[in-house]
Amino acid sequence: MTPVFDLVVLGCGGGPSEYNLSSYLLKSCAASWTEGIVALEAGNGIGALHQILKENPEPFFKRPLDGDRSFSTASRIYSCIQCYLITHAHLDHVNSLVLAAGSLSGPPRRVFGLTQTLKDLETIFADRLWPNLASWDADDPEVKLLYSKLNADGQYKAISSHLSARTMTVSHGRCRAGDPYDSATFFIRHDPSGHELLFFGDVEPDTVADQPRNRDVWRIAASKIPDQLRAIFIECSWPSGRPDSMLYGHLTPEHLRDELVILATEVLKARQEKTLIPADEPVRKRTKMNPPSPGSLTGVLEGLRVYIMHCKEDINGSYDQPIQLVIAGQIRNLVNDLKLGVEIVAVEQGMHITI
Ligand SMILES: [Zn+2]
Ligand SMILES: [Zn+2]
Repeated sequence: MTPVFDLVVLGCGGGPSEYNLSSYLLKSCAASWTEGIVALEAGNGIGALHQILKENPEPFFKRPLDGDRSFSTASRIYSCIQCYLITHAHLDHVNSLVLAAGSLSGPPRRVFGLTQTLKDLETIFADRLWPNLASWDADDPEVKLLYSKLNADGQYKAISSHLSARTMTVSHGRCRAGDPYDSATFFIRHDPSGHELLFFGDVEPDTVADQPRNRDVWRIAASKIPDQLRAIFIECSWPSGRPDSMLYGHLTPEHLRDELVILATEVLKARQEKTLIPADEPVRKRTKMNPPSPGSLTGVLEGLRVYIMHCKEDINGSYDQPIQLVIAGQIRNLVNDLKLGVEIVAVEQGMHITI
């Protein structure tokens, strides 16, 4: 399959290092970077881009850059961000959007997010923590960032010239007062080809969440795998062995394995429905499928690649390898035991991924 998505990882850690916070630059392969970039999360920004360009100007340029000019080049590329797509407003996902807002020139950039996410951002842009540079009003002359609401309504919304996104809400732990904290998941579609990628922000396991909603996402993803959907980006913040009482709204390798088993079960169900029931049969007439028998999930996720991100920094130096390799290795061992057929990839800062 010819790749349709170009993605550069500006940062992919889960904290506490401020050098590696969630941030991905995305565009359609057919377009150039200067034609417009979608910033998927905005933890890292221009500083990380500057560093990445110095060390490895690919994929933005074929030749090495002059070191002194690289900051202005980073700022030029960063200015090509057309819009931001934000899963939730935790600082490790919005830091650079806030810091860079004042330096943006040209038309206001849309910040797409769930209503609550945008309301949370308003508390930052309230003229105390940071100047008020964001608005709901496109005619506001001072506006640098334009709040743009995403609804989890099953519809795809255009976010740039070739890309649209379908938003779903997932659970990301609780606030201290006990209220649930929501995050978003995006199905990002390359409109000309219909190919998609699935991007999770921070997310907790269904087995732990007050409101388990991952299964709804897996159900939607299932019918698209692998023809339309070959790539899932998902967090796995902690290594194996972390107790459920200390997840703080995140996944471990064991929980991610369990989530992938649910996905595989849904894929199997979707395929059975397709072969048993003609496509034009109304959904309400569909019969209930039996649960999968042991071994029936073998190879079901063949053709799917799962990118592991948001791994919490190993600040105590407990491991010999970088933490993302440790965690991805643990997940790989767990899913290989089940022979699901899925490929596990550790995301690293500076990586260029084509899908
Ligand atoms: Zn978070
Ligand atoms: Zn986070």
